[in-house]
Amino acid sequence: MDIIDERLAVIQPLNKFWYQKKVAALDMLRLDQIHPVVSGNKWFKLRLNMKYATEHNFKTIVTSGGGYSNHLIATAFTSRKFGLASVGIVRGKYDRLTPTLQACRNEGMELIFVTKEDYTNRNEPGWANEFVRHFDEILFVPEGGANEWGRAGAGLLSRFVSDDYTHVLIAVGSGTTLIGLRNSLPAEQQLFGFVPMKEGAYLQNYIGTHLHEGKAKNWQLIDDYHFGGFGKWNQELIRFMNDFYTENKIPLDIVYTSKMMYGLQQLLQNNDFSVSDRILCIHSGGLQGNISVQNELVYN
Ligand SMILES: *Cc1c(COP(=O)(O)O)cnc(C)c1O
Repeated sequence: MDIIDERLAVIQPLNKFWYQKKVAALDMLRLDQIHPVVSGNKWFKLRLNMKYATEHNFKTIVTSGGGYSNHLIATAFTSRKFGLASVGIVRGKYDRLTPTLQACRNEGMELIFVTKEDYTNRNEPGWANEFVRHFDEILFVPEGGANEWGRAGAGLLSRFVSDDYTHVLIAVGSGTTLIGLRNSLPAEQQLFGFVPMKEGAYLQNYIGTHLHEGKAKNWQLIDDYHFGGFGKWNQELIRFMNDFYTENKIPLDIVYTSKMMYGLQQLLQNNDFSVSDRILCIHSGGLQGNISVQNELVYN
């Protein structure tokens, strides 16, 4: 079953004024447009998990995330479409649900709140079990869709990337999308992952262990543009997002893609690319999370 129309994933050239023709081409793959709820890379990371779950008669998808998680709402929506129950284990306790969590509940997701301390163990084997004993036939999908099916599904994104591009740029969270893409793009294409958090360096090893033979080259992480940490922002970033929208008519999200494009602008200004380079930036969606800053933005 396909719940999204992939033809909506258009490639949009950016305004030449914005990049001052410092490279031969600068385009954006608009995965933010494929679906209002399941936007960006999330559908790709979930689709093979959902296929596996339905083919093997699982009844419930269990996953985890924070209060503004794009992955949680995408999982809630997709599970319902596939006729599966869903459970979201949420990091932290909330007196009032965030708009994202409310949307998850509206899609039928059962929310289970755990303390931040408990949540730090989320990658331990069997971690979720104690919270979900009352559900049957569970498929646990790690945060960020970070499993074999998630990586394979993310690899399907390579079909949108023509060989003409010398560089492909994406924002990194769990690293799942980067791994999937690196394993499926031609090895000579450069892949840059922008990390929107502090101390993202640990991802380097994690990603390396999942790359296929012969594909473990021509990728790098750029973690200089985190604005103080995951989910942190300041007025400079807001101004950048508003200017970017005015010049390119593309809305960016506050957590991932804004920091990537800000970083790219810096790299262009430093002349870190050559004028013959052809760059494709992947817009990985996440616009639902902008509700937390909606009064700051000229769009939304
Ligand atoms: C989840 C997400 C990412 C990170 O994807 P990973 O596969 O976890 O690295 C990037 N951008 C947006 C908008 C996201 O929602």
